[in-house]
Amino acid sequence: MCAMRFLVITGAGVSAESGIPTFRGKDGYWRNLDPAKLATPEAFVNNPKLVWEWYRERRQRIRTAQPNPAHAAIVKLAAYADAFLLVTQNVDDLHLRAESEGQRLSRRKIVQIHGDIFETRCSRCEFAFSTGSPEPPGSGVVGVDNGRLRAGVARSIAPTSTEEDEAIPQCPECGELMRPGVVWFGEQLELQKIERVENYLAQASCDVVIVAGTTAAFGYIIDWAVRARDPDGRLIEVNPDPTPLSPFATHLIREPAGVALPRLVDELLVSAGWRRTMR
Ligand code: NAD
Ligand code: ZN
Repeated sequence: MCAMRFLVITGAGVSAESGIPTFRGKDGYWRNLDPAKLATPEAFVNNPKLVWEWYRERRQRIRTAQPNPAHAAIVKLAAYADAFLLVTQNVDDLHLRAESEGQRLSRRKIVQIHGDIFETRCSRCEFAFSTGSPEPPGSGVVGVDNGRLRAGVARSIAPTSTEEDEAIPQCPECGELMRPGVVWFGEQLELQKIERVENYLAQASCDVVIVAGTTAAFGYIIDWAVRARDPDGRLIEVNPDPTPLSPFATHLIREPAGVALPRLVDELLVSAGWRRTMR
């Protein structure tokens, strides 16, 4: 174990090397539409069919994608850290499917602050279900060492599910339209999730805060990152481009997450006195 306390915050950039487009830049556009306008309650009210088509395509892409070395490095850090929490803005399941030395991230150590794309929930009542993300054949044997996937290469495995039909799902309880279980622009975060983050921050300050692959466009991301850091601790930003968080960081790593995070995690574990034999 490594007697340090970590907070890791991730965004879409961490999944970019798995072939999942971020929202920024031209890759984020879908049928010439801006995701920042599609991922809104207004878009859903105006055209639920269009919004569902977009989410179905994204679900399908995520199903066929594989975690990349950035996801695996975070699992490794969690496995060795004394105290660890991952707050991700990603709605994909790549953090949960990633492995390091045969281990996966416990759900207790991750907060999906913007929800889960595989959840379908009623837009009026509490009814919800998860379509899950069936693992592509053979993914169970993909380990960190022998199965590292090259950056930018998503595996082309045929979709394993045909659950996504054309209809807009309706709530069996109240008849209202169902929607993806994600937080759209302009919507509130779930209180329980905020509490999990705040409780972790309240317990003790962090020796290392890592913020990777996010534009940090939301105030609470900057707020959590800055408040979590111990006065003697580090705030490390991993992003090829500057963000509003950059001025608050003590270390800037201007590299893709899949390159930077495995090296950074190994450095941190060594500097914290971690030895493989201690496990
Ligand atoms: P964003 O799309 O706004 O920004 C992506 C950030 O990642 C940028 O700052 C970019 O410079 C950086 N980046 C790009 N490639 C990178 C790489 N290889 N390594 C490291 N950084 C890289 O993403 P956001 O800040 O997470 O916010 C967008 C919103 O969209 C969030 O609410 C999120 O839930 C949602 N979203 C999620 C996914 C996903 O689940 N994979 C994908 C797209 C958008
Ligand atoms: Zn309902």
